Amino acid sequence: MTTEPLNWKPRRILRLPQNYDDLFNRYFHRECLTCCKVPSYPLICLMCSKLICLGDCCQTLKSLGIGAETRLTVTEMQTHAEECSSSSGLFLSLTSSLIIIGRGNASAIWGCVYLDSHGEEDRNLKRGKPLILSNRRFELLEKDWHQQEWQRVRQWIPFATSQILIASIRDSHYHVNN
Ligand SMILES: [Zn+2]
Ligand SMILES: [Zn+2]
Repeated sequence: MTTEPLNWKPRRILRLPQNYDDLFNRYFHRECLTCCKVPSYPLICLMCSKLICLGDCCQTLKSLGIGAETRLTVTEMQTHAEECSSSSGLFLSLTSSLIIIGRGNASAIWGCVYLDSHGEEDRNLKRGKPLILSNRRFELLEKDWHQQEWQRVRQWIPFATSQILIASIRDSHYHVNN
């Protein structure tokens, strides 16, 4: 019998399909198990593959301690990151192809692991070209995940509500770093 603590190693990132279309078709139009609606802003947890809804509908209020007056609005993404992973949470935003990190009360946009045939990102799927999993990007993501240093992150967004995060995702194609 092993007595190693369960969270001794960070969890592994799920193996993703080669074609973005396969991922998209598998999750798009699926209902969120929390609000029972089809999310407008679906995220996929890259640890356990659960569909997460980034809408206001799935936000909750979290108290900052017993008897504390101040309560924080937290997204389902943050709640799930705490439940699912001992460190940061990693998610893929299905309608933008962006990887989103949730770490404590902060969130950040990492970039894309799916690229088009020219090796370019298609943030928010504006061009609609077929996207293929980039092994190089995926290795970079795994490295960042294991080191938890997140060198590709340009900006951490503290205490982001659903609307703030949705707006950051929507505007993120203005800040592409390939
Ligand atoms: Zn999960
Ligand atoms: Zn919802």
